Amino acid sequence: MNIGFIGLGIMGKPMAKNLLKAGYSLVVYDVAAAPVAELVQAGAKAGASPKDVASQSEIIITMLPNSPHVKTAVLGPKGVLEGIRNGSIFIDMSSIGRLASREVAAALAPKGVEMLDAPVSGGEPKAVDGTLAVMVGGKETIFAKVKEILLKMAASVVLCGDIGAGNVTKLANQIIVALNIAAMSEAFVLATKAGVDPERVFDAIKGGLAGSTVLNAKAPMVLEGNYKPGFRIALHIKDLQNALDTAHESGVPIPVTSQVMEIMQALKVDGKQKEDHGGLIQFYEKLAGVKVRKGGAA
Ligand code: NAD
Repeated sequence: MNIGFIGLGIMGKPMAKNLLKAGYSLVVYDVAAAPVAELVQAGAKAGASPKDVASQSEIIITMLPNSPHVKTAVLGPKGVLEGIRNGSIFIDMSSIGRLASREVAAALAPKGVEMLDAPVSGGEPKAVDGTLAVMVGGKETIFAKVKEILLKMAASVVLCGDIGAGNVTKLANQIIVALNIAAMSEAFVLATKAGVDPERVFDAIKGGLAGSTVLNAKAPMVLEGNYKPGFRIALHIKDLQNALDTAHESGVPIPVTSQVMEIMQALKVDGKQKEDHGGLIQFYEKLAGVKVRKGGAA
């Protein structure tokens, strides 16, 4: 079976490599040449466009930044829609708005193509290990057909509901991650300025109720002042904007999320949007006039 893979960035490149390692034949495309060359080196075939990829594949996967990129790659000139064959399955693994997912699914349906929205959580390390968590929206029959493929990139794959439900679940995930990072930042800045080594704080609390996967992933980076992405602040702003839009469309106020969104906007104005979202702590460091580092204030 041929799988088409479009979007070979921080996440897409290792995910595509894991499909190759599992023995699938891959046709790949990205607007950037370098990751395509790397995948060809690893055994994939290069497609000339999303249309070309779709015309050679039974399953087409996209891993792109946001809704406009997915719409361009699928609905735009030389897009997936122009090349995809009746009976193929389209899986968008990007984190986008649920309305965009539904729009793309509706455009593909007349071609006899089913779509799943299947965003992921876990970041680059889990993309490399093939241990992502995938949250899926779409029909159960289609999910059953591709679950084994998704499990080559993931440790957990859960069907959450109809098309769009994967992205609603991902927004819930992103709210929880953003608010955890903000809570960790407030706590570490407080500990540091009050004279307690934040590394000791981390060691003391990680096994208790405040412990979390977010804390375990982000605290070691933050304690080194390492904000290399990982997951860029710009992408988290995109997710929180999609969360705010979805919440407001659904009649749900999300006041704490909107505050963390404003913190991220302040960091963007400060030129830090390309840094890892753990870099959110710099907003609190500036407010308190202290830097959080192993051993105490830097
Ligand atoms: P990225 O910016 O590193 O990669 C995106 C890739 O898409 C780039 O290689 C870019 O050249 C390519 N691209 C853009 N427009 C294109 C187009 N029209 N056609 C073909 N290729 C195009 O982003 P990423 O970090 O890999 O994230 C991808 C998605 O996964 C995003 O929706 C993000 O929110 C989500 N995500 C990221 C992480 C993470 O930790 N980085 C974790 C979970 C989910």
